[in-house]
Amino acid sequence: MTIERTFVMVKPDGVQRGLVGEVIRRLERKGLKLVAMKLVRLDRATAEAHYAVHREKPFYRALVDFVTAGPVVPMVWEGPSAVEVVRNLLGATDGRRAAPGTIRGDYGADIQMNLVHGSDSPETAAAEIALHFRPEEIVEWSRTLEAWLHEEG
Ligand code: UDP
Ligand code: MG
Repeated sequence: MTIERTFVMVKPDGVQRGLVGEVIRRLERKGLKLVAMKLVRLDRATAEAHYAVHREKPFYRALVDFVTAGPVVPMVWEGPSAVEVVRNLLGATDGRRAAPGTIRGDYGADIQMNLVHGSDSPETAAAEIALHFRPEEIVEWSRTLEAWLHEEG
């Protein structure tokens, strides 16, 4: 069992639609542990760096406009295989195709405005966490409940 950290961000559409609590609720109930969170408005440079992998894509400029158009809620979540677990909870990129029961499948019907970002690999997660958080913003804490969520690794 590998304990991982992943970077999750409620995008401006999720904040505007009042879904911050719903996103947190679903990740908490899954057993993931929240270790960092804030509400910020991304500056253009941070948004461009965050989506740098998509720089050459036709949707890049519109995506950066969208993600800087209002406040976002960046978070770090921790748990066994946290990267994959979060991606599964989010569902496919396009809300129209995302399975019912996933966050995007239940609340979204658009490919750009798909409510939440989740890292796609542990390596990406490390880079995204470093981009959005200072080390002292990440809080180490232990849960007494841990033994009832997963076996010792
Ligand atoms: N996106 C878009 N148009 C597309 C594909 C993606 O606007 O055709 C946006 C969407 O908000 C997505 C983000 O770009 O979440 C990053 O795309 P990626 O393929 O990495 O999807 P994700 O990893 O978020 O599922
Ligand atoms: Mg991606």
